[in-house]
Amino acid sequence: MSEEKLGLNTICTHIGEIKDEQFKGAVSPIYMSTSYAFENVVVKRYPRYFNTPNQAYLSKKIAALEHAEAAMIFASGMAAISTVFFALLKAGDHIVVQNTLYGGTANFIREEFPKHGIEFTFTNGYNVSDFSAAIRPNTKVIHIETPSNPLLTITDIKAVASLAKSNNIISTIDNTFASPVNQNPIDLGIDIVMHSATKYLGGHSDILAGAVASSNQHMETIWNVGKNLGGSLSDFTVWMLERSIKTLGLRVKAQNRNAKKLAKFLQDHDAVKKVYYPGLKNHPQHALAKSQMKGFGGMLSFELIDSLNANEFLSALKLIKPSMSLAGVESTMLLPYSTSHALLTQEQRVALGITNNLIRFSVGIESKRDLMLDIEQAIQSINS
Ligand SMILES: *Cc1c(COP(=O)(O)O)cnc(C)c1O
Repeated sequence: MSEEKLGLNTICTHIGEIKDEQFKGAVSPIYMSTSYAFENVVVKRYPRYFNTPNQAYLSKKIAALEHAEAAMIFASGMAAISTVFFALLKAGDHIVVQNTLYGGTANFIREEFPKHGIEFTFTNGYNVSDFSAAIRPNTKVIHIETPSNPLLTITDIKAVASLAKSNNIISTIDNTFASPVNQNPIDLGIDIVMHSATKYLGGHSDILAGAVASSNQHMETIWNVGKNLGGSLSDFTVWMLERSIKTLGLRVKAQNRNAKKLAKFLQDHDAVKKVYYPGLKNHPQHALAKSQMKGFGGMLSFELIDSLNANEFLSALKLIKPSMSLAGVESTMLLPYSTSHALLTQEQRVALGITNNLIRFSVGIESKRDLMLDIEQAIQSINS
């Protein structure tokens, strides 16, 4: 069977399964060994070499999902991201990163790169001109994140990838928010795709993991640094992740549908000032989103009208949980001003569009009617 021709849900269910030849069990066995018999190969089997049976097989599933030649599984999204950057950058090199970046990645760059003599520029915005303006002679990498957190801005993947290519720069993307179900950046010319598998790939808020997918050549470079940094994932969790990805297509498509319905519901609601969702026709980059995404994702943000208090609203919810993380099957909300963007000043936040009434909504797979009823009762209860 050619893996390229398989449909999404077949890849999710079957690629990267380990056949249980001994007992003919239905699912992949877990190989927990950290010690394997000496074999006459250059790279022996060892978990920190990312090549145990479970690691190697799950990598095939991730590669197939991202239309890549190869992939690696990491102990966290940050382990994946930091390993890729340290593999591609050395002292004297420069990286251009999008200014609307996941907080952990932005902190990593600001806190660690200066210690290693790596230069960086955060773009002013997310238009292609913002990236081209930041390129220097020593620029080695351009890194983007689309849709962005928390305002769901869209970066033109194809345009940034071709800008990078024409300047001999490697392009990388954090594809966590979209997931491979909704966006395949390698098809659009991006060189390296990274994931926090803690989010949609895991999908049940119970796994910390990361993943990287790219060409064999780039993966070899990343592997060489990865084995030194040691950010590999335990085989038990690798197995949990394989199990979770079996339902990735079903989950994310259900989340896409729910998010679109909820975005429309909120947009029409008197208590809501503004909704940020790339699937809405009035999103400023709806056409661009449509051209590069297969679905618009399960993440949206909205702003309550000034007379309502977002903290009170969150406390009044009964079904939707206030939660730091995202992308689980359960719906969660958080206030970026007091969580993900708490370290910025009020002025910086307002400049970014992050007001105290902005709510980030990670839409789950619950019945959409129940989600709407929960939002409605919470608004009624704080309005009275
Ligand atoms: C959560 C997240 C990360 C970091 O992943 P961890 O698994 O927490 O290390 C990176 N990028 C994005 C977009 C995220 O949401």
